Amino acid sequence: MPPKAVVETRVLKALLRHRGVLKEFAKGTDIVNELADEFTLNQQQRTATLERVYRKENRTVQSLLWLRLLFRAADTLAKLGLVSRPTATFKLSGKREWMLTEKGFDEALKLEGKQDLNKENLGVRSFEVQKVVKTLVSTPRPDSYDPVARDKRLVTRSSTSYFRSRAFRQAVIEAYDCKCAFCAFKLSSPDSLSWEVQAAHIVPNNFKGKDDIWNGLALCGIHHWAFDAGWLSVTPRFIIDVSSRVGFLSDDFAQICDVNLIRMFENKKTRMLLPVEKNLFPHENAIAWHRSNRFVA
Ligand SMILES: [Zn+2]
Repeated sequence: MPPKAVVETRVLKALLRHRGVLKEFAKGTDIVNELADEFTLNQQQRTATLERVYRKENRTVQSLLWLRLLFRAADTLAKLGLVSRPTATFKLSGKREWMLTEKGFDEALKLEGKQDLNKENLGVRSFEVQKVVKTLVSTPRPDSYDPVARDKRLVTRSSTSYFRSRAFRQAVIEAYDCKCAFCAFKLSSPDSLSWEVQAAHIVPNNFKGKDDIWNGLALCGIHHWAFDAGWLSVTPRFIIDVSSRVGFLSDDFAQICDVNLIRMFENKKTRMLLPVEKNLFPHENAIAWHRSNRFVA
């Protein structure tokens, strides 16, 4: 059987590969088999059991040695503060999972030689950020919502604002199933760590737009740019609206092969993709701000 320290490293790497979470280890689960495959364990090693005798109660309990080894490795990672235990994660997400902490996330990136990657752009969950995500997606939608943070300083680099902006990105992208709300483009990097889709602010950051899900929209790179530039907006009923100036564009603008990435929405009454939960829809006040301040009708 592989040494415990090596198993710990592999569990941490697997957490990164699986975007920050692994199901609690149980017999026959995919992750248990996946890790066994990594160590090329043979059938005998996979099924070897460990017998523990409880003298007081006069009973013996048999457990799989491989499962025990995985559990002990994860348990050590939890003691080091690198992962959260399934009991703690359950309280947060309702799922019995091991989840990376921020410290574990850094450690896993280091192990993979990817410490230069910007965590803000990775779709990996961490316990600390998921706590903020939970607040973002469970706060009831206010009627009189102001998408502009009037008292917000533009240069804030506290850890609160850092977690908040990562949670914003995570919440928005997940709410839209990693797709562009306009064209539905969906693509991740080959290692599945990052998504092409971006979490766009409806009221942009440099206009003190809030990091709230109601001020967010998942958009591909091109439509994000076109939305910020004022070529595209949405109506209060979430129909994609195209600037009338599009009529002045020459044919080679916004064209990719046979598709014009702006004109594709012209006079089509295309409804943008929306989150499953109504509470997470963009807020009409944020949309109204965009229509009067960015959109070139
Ligand atoms: Zn798009």
